[in-house]
Amino acid sequence: MVQAIGYAAPAADKELEYFEFERREPTAHDVEIEIAFCGVCHSDLHQARNEWGGTVFPCVPGHEIVGKVTRVGDKVTKFKVGDTVGVGCMVDSCGHCHSCHEGHEQYCDSGLVGTYNGPDKHSGGVTYGGYSNRITVTEGFVLKVSDKLDLAGVAPLLCAGITTYSPLRHWGVTKGTKVGVVGLGGLGHMAVKLAAAMGAEVVLFTTSANKVEDAKRLGAQHVVISKDPEAMAAWQNQLDFILNTVAAPHDLDAFLSLLRLDGTMCLVGIPAEPHPSPSAYNLVAKRRSLAGSLIGGIAETQEMLDFCAEHGITSDIELIAMDDINEAYERMLKGDVKYRFVIDLATLKQR
Ligand code: NAP
Ligand code: ZN
Repeated sequence: MVQAIGYAAPAADKELEYFEFERREPTAHDVEIEIAFCGVCHSDLHQARNEWGGTVFPCVPGHEIVGKVTRVGDKVTKFKVGDTVGVGCMVDSCGHCHSCHEGHEQYCDSGLVGTYNGPDKHSGGVTYGGYSNRITVTEGFVLKVSDKLDLAGVAPLLCAGITTYSPLRHWGVTKGTKVGVVGLGGLGHMAVKLAAAMGAEVVLFTTSANKVEDAKRLGAQHVVISKDPEAMAAWQNQLDFILNTVAAPHDLDAFLSLLRLDGTMCLVGIPAEPHPSPSAYNLVAKRRSLAGSLIGGIAETQEMLDFCAEHGITSDIELIAMDDINEAYERMLKGDVKYRFVIDLATLKQR
């Protein structure tokens, strides 16, 4: 076994703290990675506080990982020592169900193996994530990362990037599509950048008046304060597609009514408590769809990383030290993130 250090939540109601644990020795198909940066996703907070249920403690969160390869197993062909690589939200899947065959490993019938708090077939316990100095991952779940982009800004692409890219592609967003993005946080700001790069006309809906200028800089043509009923009314029946990234329960009808005939609103936010049920009439009246989407497959994640390298897209980040993680969670809850915290793992030291 290999000694690893990280930060873990010891219990749902406790702050994250320094934690020592073991990673497996790389097997023939494994890639060992020294982690340089790890993004801080709202899902980390949901799970560290057991808001979705099922968190096994201690829990080492983190699924927006970039770093350098330090060792590879004998059978590894895609990577060599020194390569810059990424790991996102999953580190394994069954590999033989319909979804896995189609390259949609995130929808694996047996359930994906999460990068943290997932069932670890090697240890028999749970997986530990990227708030850590190193990780060992089977090569099929490791991504190639371009050295052209700022690495700290690349880390959030591994979750926030792919989670927004995949539904934008799935629902055919292209030049001229009118796309609404709800919430300007980690996912929302990537959705704005990516939809704009795909040529869409982007309308950003925010509860925070102080984010208007940023939204425009990031690529939104229009910004609507969603708490203002008059401003919302002006967009009734206008949008082809809405990507809703909000991490808290809210009135979905306020946004569904902005879709044109046959429009779709896709939810990616996963609040701890359910949304109030939307009105059937609002869907029926314009044959609207309400949908959801989970991250993206491995091939699609590579496609997204290549798209971002080509278009020079990274996340707008605030780099933090490992010790700052608890304060970062509190700020994330207040919507006080511009627009993703990224942990500099060089600040994590053995104690
Ligand atoms: P985040 O950075 O905290 O951003 C969420 C944004 O939602 C906030 O910045 C805020 O934007 C808005 N918001 C928050 N509370 C709100 C409220 N009470 N009412 C209205 N708007 C509110 O979070 P994130 O990392 O982007 O994650 C967003 C959600 O997606 C989380 O639930 C996370 O677990 C989930 N997620 C899902 C997937 C997936 O595969 N489906 C992947 C990753 C994350 P404004 O200030 O602009 O209003
Ligand atoms: Zn995430």
